[in-house]
Amino acid sequence: MNAFRYAQARDAASAMATLAAEPSAMYVAGGTNVIDLMKEYVERPSLLVDIAQLPMRAIEPAANGLRVGSLALMSDVADHPAVVRGFPVVSQALLLSASPQLRNMATIGGNVMQRTRCAYFRDATQPCNKRAPGTGCAARGGDNRRHAVIGGSEQCICTHASDLAVALLAVDAVVHVQGRAGERAIPFERFHVLPGTTPQRETVLERGDLITAVELPASAHARGSYYLKVRDRASYEFALVSVAAAFDVRAGRIRAARVALGGVAPKPWRAHDAEAALIGRQPGAQAFAAAAQAATRGMRGYGQNDFKIALTRRAVARALAHAGDVA
Ligand code: SF4
Repeated sequence: MNAFRYAQARDAASAMATLAAEPSAMYVAGGTNVIDLMKEYVERPSLLVDIAQLPMRAIEPAANGLRVGSLALMSDVADHPAVVRGFPVVSQALLLSASPQLRNMATIGGNVMQRTRCAYFRDATQPCNKRAPGTGCAARGGDNRRHAVIGGSEQCICTHASDLAVALLAVDAVVHVQGRAGERAIPFERFHVLPGTTPQRETVLERGDLITAVELPASAHARGSYYLKVRDRASYEFALVSVAAAFDVRAGRIRAARVALGGVAPKPWRAHDAEAALIGRQPGAQAFAAAAQAATRGMRGYGQNDFKIALTRRAVARALAHAGDVA
């Protein structure tokens, strides 16, 4: 780990000003991701600005649902009765993430900002366009079993690691950000970006932007949501494939549906074709199979990860069988 300085932020404005003034400064809150990356020489900040004491920890009712402060802990959000009741997919995704110890430290904002678990990204001796732009992508011809089957580019085929982010897509979450130009709200589907020719850029955030909260709009499909995570071992492991499924049924027909995928793309992936395949149909095995087929449209493997395509199909059908809010 390189030598670095440490400062505690007094308020959001001073935190943002510090980051603006020092190009290699970084925010830290729970520290469960950034400290790991510093130990591996992937991140080398000159200064860590600790934002953990800023007043952004509350989980409170909002006009249209629930507002979760960006510094709320994963464990607190997972157990909150309003989350469990109104957004079960969020609670389930959090409880299937990391370990209890990590969930007691890590924050919601940090979770959606976490970097990929691509082993080449975390090995500073390997070529990696995301860590060192222009050096190449060791995964394309290397060990790509855990890599993307959709959304990747010539430059990068990593997967996004967050379970929570997949769940947030399925409930139409909105990220609230404070930046130099003031506050703005970003629909979660537009928050992460695909690697394209700039894999080092992962979100639409600008330098110094501070995530203040994540808003969860109440809806019938959010109440009927479910998270399925398929992984190599039953705990403390990242997803090979995960599915956040949500729909609501009126008069026997599916009225609104969300299907979001994890472990298959460089960002949490919304399967719009799968959702379209569900609308207007009676919930059941036939509709779920059609959605599962549609979910994998456009996927391609790189050899070792080909299995993810069939696995996604089965996982989508299974997740949908558990989901659904019926009025
Ligand atoms: Fe780096 Fe992306 Fe290639 Fe992994 S897949 S080695 S993160 S460029």
